[in-house]
Amino acid sequence: MTNEIFEQFYAVSKNRRIFTEKEVTEIAWQLVQEKKLQEQVKEIKTDGKIRAFSEGVGEYDHTNKRIILFDKMIAYAAQLEDSKTFGFSSDERHFFYNLFLLESIRHEMEHANQAKIIHDHHINTIEVRLLKLCQNHLSQEYVFGCLMKGMSIEQIKKDVETKIQNQKAVYKSYYKIAPEERLADYHAMQECLKMLEPIKSQLPHIFRVEKAKYIRMKLEGYNASLSPTITYLRKLGLDRELRDFEWYDENDSRCLKKSQDIYSLETRLQYGLPISKEEYGEKQFELKKTLQL
Ligand SMILES: [Zn+2]
Repeated sequence: MTNEIFEQFYAVSKNRRIFTEKEVTEIAWQLVQEKKLQEQVKEIKTDGKIRAFSEGVGEYDHTNKRIILFDKMIAYAAQLEDSKTFGFSSDERHFFYNLFLLESIRHEMEHANQAKIIHDHHINTIEVRLLKLCQNHLSQEYVFGCLMKGMSIEQIKKDVETKIQNQKAVYKSYYKIAPEERLADYHAMQECLKMLEPIKSQLPHIFRVEKAKYIRMKLEGYNASLSPTITYLRKLGLDRELRDFEWYDENDSRCLKKSQDIYSLETRLQYGLPISKEEYGEKQFELKKTLQL
């Protein structure tokens, strides 16, 4: 994030106030410029309706190229969820609220960025490959593949519609382990931690809680399975497509071994790839230690 955003964040929080709706929107536009997302974001609006916590803090609307930020919800959730739990002082609380807002904006911006990178044919990172799989029905490659198989346009349309409905249903039930959400959180939190770095001695409590949130986010979905990403892609019915990944194997222990040989623990956590029980324990310990410091 730019210095300008950091300075604004610092000044507003130091003055013990929360970003206004106008400021939030302006910051979001600054990020659109910075990330060159003008093609993906045509409109940014805040929506003051209070929603259930499970509905999230914002939304990127692919079809209308619009970012919607649920402003009241954000302040409400921050107040309920975190300030009491972590016992922030009133000075710290404003830094925390505003950080939460920045993180939320950055998270939605990341979804816009995902829409950009999956259409860039020069990028073939594991991130892009996973993102494409989560929305494979929309890609040109997919439609081309169907045509090659001799499917008619009508059949393809029907097939795509079924896939879209299935994807929506899976996302609704399992969004917590959806790769696109993990990756959006990952980048948003990493950027916020980087922003806090120069003032971490001033705000040790906040920095520690942010670090703990970051570790907890990476562990999301692991207690129930070897790899939340594999679980999610299987729910989408993509068992066959999974086999194209060099780190994948249908046998769990071989899959773990392959993934460990190719990627570090941190990289596997970033993408939701297999980690061992021992590695999970290690990370849990790190999380506990961070909260106790
Ligand atoms: Zn999201």
